[in-house]
Amino acid sequence: MRANTLLRRMLGITGIVVDGFEFEGDDLVVDVRSRGRRRPRCGLCGVRAPGYDSIGQRKWRHLGIGGLRIWIRSRLRRVNCARCGVRVESVPWAAHNSGFTLQFEELAAYLARATDKTTVRRLLGVAWRTVGRIVERVVARNGPRDVLEGLRRIGVDEFSYRKRHRYLTVIVDHDTGRVVWAAPGPQYETLRQFFEVLGPERCAEIELVTIDMNAGFKKAIAEFLPKAQVVFDRFHVQRLASDALDEVRREQLRETRGTPEGRSLFRSRFVLLKNPWNLSRRERAKLSNIEKHNAPLFRAYLLKEAIVRALDYVQPWRAKRALKEWIAWASRSRLGPFQRVARTIRKHFDGVLAYIGERLTNGIVEGINNRMRMVSRRAFGFHSPEPLIALLRLCCGRVPLDPPIPVPTDV
Ligand SMILES: [Zn+2]
Repeated sequence: MRANTLLRRMLGITGIVVDGFEFEGDDLVVDVRSRGRRRPRCGLCGVRAPGYDSIGQRKWRHLGIGGLRIWIRSRLRRVNCARCGVRVESVPWAAHNSGFTLQFEELAAYLARATDKTTVRRLLGVAWRTVGRIVERVVARNGPRDVLEGLRRIGVDEFSYRKRHRYLTVIVDHDTGRVVWAAPGPQYETLRQFFEVLGPERCAEIELVTIDMNAGFKKAIAEFLPKAQVVFDRFHVQRLASDALDEVRREQLRETRGTPEGRSLFRSRFVLLKNPWNLSRRERAKLSNIEKHNAPLFRAYLLKEAIVRALDYVQPWRAKRALKEWIAWASRSRLGPFQRVARTIRKHFDGVLAYIGERLTNGIVEGINNRMRMVSRRAFGFHSPEPLIALLRLCCGRVPLDPPIPVPTDV
């Protein structure tokens, strides 16, 4: 077998001819051309177009072998496309405007979905930001196109990216568990933008929306989905209570600094926020210490636990009674943060109660929520929202991938 043939087989790219190769330091550069070179196609739309001019050689990074970096090199022309104008011709091994081969990009996306930032960067030897751009291209090319069809029950959620104050609104399909849309911007405007993309017919098919208790989201839904059932999912209600508990703890910590009571609060955050049945013996001791020495904080703890129990009820009438009792209790608790939560829940009472009636299991809402939170943390380091959106869709959107990994034979 000749070296060029061996190389062509090893590269695993169809539709090419290998003309030669050379070593540049630790890199192997393989010169190739595409088989259908006589009749070039537009790189943007893929339609045949007459040649325009030559732009010389370009290089694409390919999968490495045994620690060796491999590059594909080829001469490129521009074509004069009737639809797109003068564009670089298409090549069978890479996407338009990419410096990586398709196989490299599929592998990068596969790794970005499967593992953490550092591992991906080290395995591929590319910057995390570059991985972000690759994921954007892969999702654009492989992502399902019909995600906005047949939406019945959707969830609207919001994530901060780039530390704080920059928000991303994310739409989830509760029936498939997929992220279907995301965009940056303020709540009302961004959600309105989504409903405009969806159009009036598909909006009319939406029966239920879960949101957090956010005025902007509520306003957009009242405007575009007047008939849909609005549900405030328990995930968000519980988070309000957890945040209130944490606020009380910090207040108490300030007030009791330097006293024995103050010491009992030290490192108590985790104990207070944890499910009581998951507490270890030491954590239990810590909790009973708080019970003995700090009545306000223990009251806050009981309030946080009580709302979880209230939302556990399966029958709506029981939940309704429990929630009403909770609001009354929280209102007279003399704990400012919980009084505020009580007011918020009273204001959105029907939506909170609707959660029980609709029986959207916690698993659906919470599962996707946790996964999205994990992905958005991993996305720190991207400098614009687009790669984060792409990574969210890749990890929570059932985007099919075709990584160049051999089928295992020993399992
Ligand atoms: Zn074109």
